[in-house]
Amino acid sequence: MKIVVCEFRQESNSFNPVNAKWKDFQRCGIYENEEMRRALEGKPCAVNGMFCAIQAAGENCIPTISMNGNSGGIVDQSVVDYFLEKAVSALRKELPVDGVFVSLHGATQSTKWEDVCGEILSVLRQTVGSSAVIAISCDLHANVTEKMWEMADIICGYHTYPHVDFFETGYRAAELGIRALRGEKLQKSRVELPMIVTASSYTTLRGEFSKLMEEGKQMVENDEIQDFSIFQMQPWLDVSCGRSTVVAIGHKAQECANYLAERLWTLRHTFHAPLYTVSQICRIAKENTTGRPIILVDASDSTNAGACGDSAFVLKEILTKYPTLKSAFYLNDPRLVEEAFAAGVGAKRQLVIGGSISGSENVSVISTAVVRSLHDGKYILEGPASRGMPCNIGKTAVLTVKNTDIVVCQAISAPGDPQIYRYNGIEPENYQLVVVKACTSYRAAYEKIAAGIYEADTIGAAAVNLDRLTFTHIPTAFFHFANHSLDAEAPQLLAVKQSSAAEGNAEWNSMS
Ligand SMILES: [Zn+2]
Repeated sequence: MKIVVCEFRQESNSFNPVNAKWKDFQRCGIYENEEMRRALEGKPCAVNGMFCAIQAAGENCIPTISMNGNSGGIVDQSVVDYFLEKAVSALRKELPVDGVFVSLHGATQSTKWEDVCGEILSVLRQTVGSSAVIAISCDLHANVTEKMWEMADIICGYHTYPHVDFFETGYRAAELGIRALRGEKLQKSRVELPMIVTASSYTTLRGEFSKLMEEGKQMVENDEIQDFSIFQMQPWLDVSCGRSTVVAIGHKAQECANYLAERLWTLRHTFHAPLYTVSQICRIAKENTTGRPIILVDASDSTNAGACGDSAFVLKEILTKYPTLKSAFYLNDPRLVEEAFAAGVGAKRQLVIGGSISGSENVSVISTAVVRSLHDGKYILEGPASRGMPCNIGKTAVLTVKNTDIVVCQAISAPGDPQIYRYNGIEPENYQLVVVKACTSYRAAYEKIAAGIYEADTIGAAAVNLDRLTFTHIPTAFFHFANHSLDAEAPQLLAVKQSSAAEGNAEWNSMS
């Protein structure tokens, strides 16, 4: 049996004004042919999960190409074209192939295509023909489109958020793909929901969403289905083909997908993050007498959610209204890094801080800063997520403005890991207010030291408050936007789409 493996992963944020380019993928790793096997074997990633499942089944796999980019703006089409060219030429050399297993993010937009993953799968399907099995693994935040559904036989999504089951998901997809290759008829069903909810409003660590995930796992345990995925579409993808989707695979696929989707829909109002103004949080920090820091979460500028990470929106508020508050802050500002390195340690300068990547003046502030220290930006993450993994945020300067210490770097990575401060000589525990630009990844580390954690209602490409963004492509009847009274219409809008891999047909039902 001949099984080909490839990978294209990038989470696109339609509101980031800067496109994702070749260099952004180069930074995360582009591997071709046997180099892909060498680079990814043994790693906790989806591709290695596929390798291992294929090996466990006693089959051979042919690695072709793997391209990964960090979350960011819309991808330059030339990057997608490069991937397709390489993948197709590698496939052609191997034809006929029995299976193509693909690791995708699932929420990727390019300068040409709203649905990059659907287009990639179409091209792969055209190349290998209708009899080959295509199995894909996706992020929990994937936008599973019509095209993806039609082109792929097997779709598996992460079960964890924060994501820690990359390997397991790749393994599940490949294992089911092999079963399909061996002739097993696997029924697949899906239910689409016209819904996006802000990413920091749920997690699989606790709460209602984690219970729902457990219910799905129980269905697999009870042998009602072989697999399931609950895709909460990432909320900063403004595309006309957007939707959240529940997928189930197995003989009770339809029944189980219906149940999980209905439960997810019922829970929609619980996916709500309480938000505070920056001023409110600063006041809490001022009045806090515990001796432990207050954490201000500026998730709207999280690079993990595809924002630029260059916003000084919060800093401006601190410096103008709460200048005596002992605060710690970080941001991406490559221009400022160069200025600080040129000025040298101890130099005092009037500087523009923020907005240098997005070009937005709304997120910059002018202030007199002292250069405290300069660093190489290369350190080891303390975790708990990715503990021991290397991290590189580029050349880094620490500036002091009034009572605030600022880490200025070139490319924020792992924004929820406290080493972004500690490595650069800032101990978060010694501050009254610590700003963190991340969605959920920061929790495990900061909950241990904080007197309180508060999410701020700030502006940014990954705004937690979705009403702060102007969506122009997402369908108008969509949960949840303040200007849509969707609830009254909900039963009609929640349409259900079922289809089976074996029959390849589809029909619409109302779920009321
Ligand atoms: Zn995700």
